[in-house]
Amino acid sequence: ELANRMAERAVDVVKSLMNMGMMVTQNQPIDADTAELIIEEFGHKVVRVSDADVEDVITSVEDKDEELVTRPPVITVMGHVDHGKTSLLDAIRKSKVVAGEAGGITQHIGAYQVETDDGAKLTFLDTPGHAAFTSMRSRGAQVTDIVILVVAADDAVMPQTIEAINHAKAAKVPMIVAINKIDRPDADPDKVRTDLLQHEVIVEKMSGDVLDVEVSAITGEGLDTLLESIALQAEILDLKANPKRQAQGAVIEAQLDIGRGPVATVLIQTGTLRKGDIFVVGEQWGKVRALIDDRGERVDEAGPSVPVEVLGLNGTPEAGDVLNVVETEGQAREIADYREHAAKERRAAAGAATTLEQLMAKAKDDVNVSELPILVKADVQGSTEAIVQAMEKIGNDEVRVRVLHSGVGAITESDIGLAEASGAPVMGFNVRANASARNTANQKGVEIRYYSVIYDLVDDVKAAASGLLSAEV
Ligand code: GDP
Repeated sequence: ELANRMAERAVDVVKSLMNMGMMVTQNQPIDADTAELIIEEFGHKVVRVSDADVEDVITSVEDKDEELVTRPPVITVMGHVDHGKTSLLDAIRKSKVVAGEAGGITQHIGAYQVETDDGAKLTFLDTPGHAAFTSMRSRGAQVTDIVILVVAADDAVMPQTIEAINHAKAAKVPMIVAINKIDRPDADPDKVRTDLLQHEVIVEKMSGDVLDVEVSAITGEGLDTLLESIALQAEILDLKANPKRQAQGAVIEAQLDIGRGPVATVLIQTGTLRKGDIFVVGEQWGKVRALIDDRGERVDEAGPSVPVEVLGLNGTPEAGDVLNVVETEGQAREIADYREHAAKERRAAAGAATTLEQLMAKAKDDVNVSELPILVKADVQGSTEAIVQAMEKIGNDEVRVRVLHSGVGAITESDIGLAEASGAPVMGFNVRANASARNTANQKGVEIRYYSVIYDLVDDVKAAASGLLSAEV
């Protein structure tokens, strides 16, 4: 690899290494310092790529105000299982596909765009639920502008509804409540509204400022009103992007297609992606060979908030990876290599991440960290409430404990996802983490602490919080 980059023969490089006393073969990795010596010996210039260099290449563009134009909002649907997330997404998509257009069939690429009767465009992410939402967020891609919280009117607020609320709040994304299944005889939309009050979601009808719309994914009732509400919320958010710059986007999903090679659905966030553009995406790079829209049609370019399938990758990226267009293939290769290398090192150092101690250490470096985020899972509702209440009493004006999410039952992957995205430890009281949650926590370095005495839990958090406090003065 090194020989290749220097355009030298591999045998010569190996020979030099042997002269230095290193008995290596062609495919053996060598450390950076040795590589530097070799490069100098061959009379080449050493360029060490760092995070800052990568940033420079990628963010060298500054948007001028006059270049910014309004972009469509990106919407994620969340809510409890069986409350109608999938049905709602399908109903919205079907209601807006022009009859006769490709037989009314849309392509599933992980996201789609619709137009309201007033001509406003809206982009929906097609993966409902907060698992996708948090995993994207933990990879640094916050693509969602608006969360639609689906609550079934015959079931009201359920555990995953609360989780969804907490995910949206943690990400500071505004919510619109879709009270679904109002066609059901036992529908009680007002129960949904009062239930939500307990979770500090105050909808308009309760004199709050969260938009709420009654809908039925089955009969289609209220769908247009829902779309109008989204358009209204988007106007308030005043979302802008510069279509004239090099594209940046986030991978919504990606897979290796037997016929087409690696394919990624990318949601363009700013700029315009065109055929022939050279890009880097996570640890991969490529050159756009073809772009395919959500109708399955080939397009030449895609602007802000447009989801497109991108062909021409040299490898399969991961959902949440960020795509950036760069000038040259050399740059793309270099950044992708650098990232691959950095990721390997990170993985090697994994196991060390968000522990209470590290949060405190981080606080010492960063004076702005005055919140200690935690997640609480307990065996019964009573314990959860007691712990949350105790947590709220810890701290003072400068430092406080923020319970991102609390719930009853085992610690799940979804908890770990939220914990990772927010850099929080998970406190389990008389509950354990299930196997997949344990694995994920290990991989991502999320700390899980188990307790069977509330006093011990409170004590640990107090100690961490006072650590934060003393770090500040
Ligand atoms: P998800 O798990 O939240 O994605 O929920 P689904 O979309 O799979 O819906 C769960 C069940 O509720 C399915 O049997 C749907 O047919 C039904 N359902 C969804 N929306 C409505 C609705 O507005 N009215 C009625 N009556 N049933 C609905």
